[in-house]
Amino acid sequence: MALVSSYDLMKNAKNFAIPAFNIDNLEGAIAVAEVIRNLRTPVIIQTIPRTLNYGGIATYPAMIKALMSDCSVDYAIHLDHGNSYDLVTQCANCGFSSVMIDGSALSLKENILLTKKVVDYAFPLNISVEGELGIIGGKEENEFEAEARYTKVGEAVEFVEATNVSSLAIGVGTAHGVYIGTPVINIKRIAEIHAAIKTPLVLHGASGLSDTTVSDCIAAGITKINFATELRQAFTKGLRTALNKDAEVYDPKLYMRDAIDAIKEVLHSKIRLCYKLNK
Ligand SMILES: [Zn+2]
Repeated sequence: MALVSSYDLMKNAKNFAIPAFNIDNLEGAIAVAEVIRNLRTPVIIQTIPRTLNYGGIATYPAMIKALMSDCSVDYAIHLDHGNSYDLVTQCANCGFSSVMIDGSALSLKENILLTKKVVDYAFPLNISVEGELGIIGGKEENEFEAEARYTKVGEAVEFVEATNVSSLAIGVGTAHGVYIGTPVINIKRIAEIHAAIKTPLVLHGASGLSDTTVSDCIAAGITKINFATELRQAFTKGLRTALNKDAEVYDPKLYMRDAIDAIKEVLHSKIRLCYKLNK
């Protein structure tokens, strides 16, 4: 059981998805390791550039590797929303086994060029590369705007052929952060893209989606699902509750335990959902 690339975990996923959990700190990493040690389901542990700015690029893979060393399971350490070639190379040198390069704000042509450059660098190092096409992130759009944000099937075909990317994050109506109102996800578009390309598909912005919607996304062809916001909410709520409960407490090891346990609860439910385990 070892550190592997995200693609190694995703390539055989069919009718289930690999959960990818964003961690911000030691407590998030402890929560994931404790749950995985027990459940033994493959997992992707990931961080965004802002987190790496906060704690240091080398800190996260070192911490994750140490904590996962006695978990009998394959796992990946992934850079989520990598925003430059330079950051990708730094992460590769620090022990990440998987990276995302997010060129979705660029033109299709520029996105292809950047993603291909990262693929050419990463593949010889056995590091898989997630690309992104379409827009993830809008809140309440009208129908016309929503259609413009969805990943187009033809562009997805062109993108994966030109880049040979390991996996593709698609825009199908999800958004990062907290949803205002009920999100409408274009399940049909997931199925259309899945039918057109072999590349494993990634769903971002899954925090706040109903279990039914997540299951529908998996059935339509999603094989990696990112969870971030709900973990941050659980951590903060657990911490706040612990501090409110005892005004005298001063040892972080005591009150952080409540925060870790709150994260673990969310991890359990998302892992069960992604792997279709019995509740
Ligand atoms: Zn994302």
